[in-house]
Amino acid sequence: MALFKTVTTPFTNQPTMPAEPLSPVLPEKPPFQGGRPTATLIQNGTIVTVEGTQKADLLVIGETIAALSKKFNIKGLPPNTKVLDATGCYVFPGGIDPHTHMEMPFMGTQSSDDFEAGTRAALIGGTTTILDFAMQDANHSLLETLAQWESKAQKAVCDYGFHMAVTHFDPATSPLEMATLVKDRGITSFKVFMAYKQALMVGDDALLAILDEATKHRATVLAHCEHGDMIDYLVQKAKSQGRLTADYHAKTRPTLVEAEATGRFTDLAYLTNANIYIVHLSCKDALDRVRQAMARGQQLNVETCIQYLLLSDALYEQETPFDAAKWVFSPPLRAYEDQVALWQGVKQGLIKTVATDHCPFCMSQKAMGQDDFSLIPNGMPGVENRFELLYSEGVEAGKITLEEFVALTSTNAAKIFGMHPKKGTLTVGADADMVVFNPNVKHQIFAATHHMNCDYSAFEGWPVTGKVQTVLRRGEWVVHEGQCVVARGSGNFLARTVTNA
Ligand SMILES: [Zn+2]
Repeated sequence: MALFKTVTTPFTNQPTMPAEPLSPVLPEKPPFQGGRPTATLIQNGTIVTVEGTQKADLLVIGETIAALSKKFNIKGLPPNTKVLDATGCYVFPGGIDPHTHMEMPFMGTQSSDDFEAGTRAALIGGTTTILDFAMQDANHSLLETLAQWESKAQKAVCDYGFHMAVTHFDPATSPLEMATLVKDRGITSFKVFMAYKQALMVGDDALLAILDEATKHRATVLAHCEHGDMIDYLVQKAKSQGRLTADYHAKTRPTLVEAEATGRFTDLAYLTNANIYIVHLSCKDALDRVRQAMARGQQLNVETCIQYLLLSDALYEQETPFDAAKWVFSPPLRAYEDQVALWQGVKQGLIKTVATDHCPFCMSQKAMGQDDFSLIPNGMPGVENRFELLYSEGVEAGKITLEEFVALTSTNAAKIFGMHPKKGTLTVGADADMVVFNPNVKHQIFAATHHMNCDYSAFEGWPVTGKVQTVLRRGEWVVHEGQCVVARGSGNFLARTVTNA
């Protein structure tokens, strides 16, 4: 019996990527049972953390890492210790994706992964923790919004925390709510949108108030940096000229729009002395604004997403024009030169995290914008692919080191968002979240075999070197050789603390 729903929609227009043969089919093995043994010994693996790489054995007892040693004497271990031979494999800290949108209402529909399906796909892809966005709407307070997201996330199977998206700031109530969220509810980061006017966007007055309030509590403010008015101007102009096809999504969001907002956000944060984090930075022009801010001594954290590192705006030119809708998200894909600049930013330590902005919509949902690009729901699936793709295109391709890979996929997010060292590393006392990773397995990404609830892949046919073999989430074996066994709702909410990272 298949463990997962598979989607078999054929694709006629795929990005041109080199194809490689699939790995050979292996003989059938007994089904994976999952579960949390009293203890797990991971033997003969290569343990990778940001501090370095070493051949060692790792002992997990219960939910935490109990010891690391060159070699354990099996006789001294607890009875019924489960042993995993990791010869030839890396052992990485479980991935942390700091930017996801599970079952998010948006543009008249809802992202197609709910918290269970999306976090299951995350685990299969090596991500054991997500930070999702609780999105305030016009009719709810911040605390009501948190209650809504807590309820939705009850079914999550990986661990999770929330950033609180503040979409309207009420001077009478919002400051008190923000203080409560930070001090009592473990929500230590707030998100603002500088785009999506009439929906999510806040003006500069509200933005300043939010930055000021967050600074009082040493919380972090995240921003979606695009200039909403510039976009609306360009969108209306395109539409008035009858330019309605999906490729106009990108054409109406040039890099200038992102660079302006990035610069303005860093300026407002400089004025208010706020801790800030720029989400999904996609282009050289915006990165240059970050460099300018850093040149005056400003501290800030920058995220990019795996799609901006690997894909370019050439994908908007499709034989069937509406296929471009698969890559309609904001900011849009950029030129090849921007990819080069982003890799440089990663290498220079300007970009601290690689996330996904996972926000899938099926093609039937994308079709809402069949006749008008501005109605295409913005977003793409990615939470399952980030870890393996960054290994393959980063480490295997020689662009980043193993330690940088761990920093970008896990440790930096844990530090920035107040989860370290419980999350994001492999040290005694940390949560036993880890990925046993076989760097030699070659495979390909297909919508037909991925586990996200989305009928297309943004990386269809992409060849990948290296595969997640086994995943432990707090000591529980949740993924092994492509099978995932995990109880609905077994993910934990992470109450986070403020940090100076
Ligand atoms: Zn997002």
